[in-house]
Amino acid sequence: MRDDNERQTCTGQTANGERCTAWPVRGREQCAGHLGLGKLDPKAASLRSAEVRAERKQARLAKREMSYSDHVAAAIERNADAIVQAFLDAGLKSGDWRALEALVTRHLGKPVERVEVETEGVDLRSLSDVELQALKRKLLMQRSA
Ligand SMILES: [Zn+2]
Repeated sequence: MRDDNERQTCTGQTANGERCTAWPVRGREQCAGHLGLGKLDPKAASLRSAEVRAERKQARLAKREMSYSDHVAAAIERNADAIVQAFLDAGLKSGDWRALEALVTRHLGKPVERVEVETEGVDLRSLSDVELQALKRKLLMQRSA
């Protein structure tokens, strides 16, 4: 069987004079509509053909657009129950608290660590690059002291 991409469309013309886009009957050069076979009219056959090609193109695009992370996300989605159960088993049955922590933080997010810097009421945005460099050096010295 030949590939659709190598096949020529019908040699007939549509009502507005354009080339018919329907597939020809096997072994013939025209579509069933232009050959007068059955009850197909060329316009309907052409429209149906265009629909089929549009559907195939959509399917190809959808498949191509699945990135690696889409595939991983889909696999995780499919196995969500088993993954959660594995974390719970490791934590509750095997005593691995890290498994429970991982499960909780993946779901709820990690607590935010906040670093407070004493700037004595100075708006850091008002400082020049030189002043910021000096402040940075001072803070680094305080930390290592
Ligand atoms: Zn035709």
